[in-house]
Amino acid sequence: MVEVKGGREFIERIEYGSDLLTSLENLAKERGVGAGILMAIGAVQRARFRYYDQKEKKYVTIQVDEPMEILSCIGNISTFKENVVIHCHIVLANRDGKVVGGHLDYGTVVFSCEVYLREFKDVELKRKYDQVTGLNLLDI
Ligand code: ZN
Repeated sequence: MVEVKGGREFIERIEYGSDLLTSLENLAKERGVGAGILMAIGAVQRARFRYYDQKEKKYVTIQVDEPMEILSCIGNISTFKENVVIHCHIVLANRDGKVVGGHLDYGTVVFSCEVYLREFKDVELKRKYDQVTGLNLLDI
């Protein structure tokens, strides 16, 4: 457990055609945020996300090539080996209201997107490899 204090807060807009995960990483890097949370809503032209197979300890990639609404996109900002990591999960709906989602991956192309990002002040959130899950978990 680590107690955090809210720092700077930002509202951002991601441009049409941008890669969502790359854009979120860039927002954090450009604002100098190494620890924080973010949430976003909007729409995508197509999406790519992953599902973690707990038995195999491997991610399975899911690609959906259709326009969808971003119903919810929530993540945190931390660092792994000095690099900023955006750990983000996304829930999307197609025109029938059917929902898909998972661990946000590169390859999700923005139609429009509005982001709220909050920095955690005076704290470092670092990740470290965890043998039990095979994931880089928060080292707290
Ligand atoms: Zn995840």
